[in-house]
Amino acid sequence: MLVRHTGDFRWENVPLLAYKEEGSHFKNISRQVLCEGLADLSCQLRYFEILPGGHSTLEHHHHVHLVVILRGDGDVLIGDEIYHARENDVLVIPPQTWHQFRATADYPLGFLCIVNTERDRPTRPSEADLELLRQNPEVASFIRS
Ligand code: MN
Repeated sequence: MLVRHTGDFRWENVPLLAYKEEGSHFKNISRQVLCEGLADLSCQLRYFEILPGGHSTLEHHHHVHLVVILRGDGDVLIGDEIYHARENDVLVIPPQTWHQFRATADYPLGFLCIVNTERDRPTRPSEADLELLRQNPEVASFIRS
């Protein structure tokens, strides 16, 4: 099977989807599912793209993410670290670790993300969680919720 790239980070017969069904805890982000998972490799391969100024949800969950930056660069919170990630960088987001992606430049940030097909739902921060996160000034100025 080949999923043909048709240009500009779109793939043949792959619909451009909303990042999540609903909510206002994210901004300017789209999702494409490039592979739905296979019998003996139970994971999904997705491509997310965040437009300038946009961000993913600040969340954590038990499942892990394996991310490869394909397009542009941007800032990524993983735990209490903020990384500036560039094209071809690989990011690992461990279980139960706060994370958020932001397109901080004036061009899109696009990345592949591999996840288990069977996975738990993300948890968003409570006010108490936010208070804890904000104890780190760098994190405080980074996060969007
Ligand atoms: Mn996540």
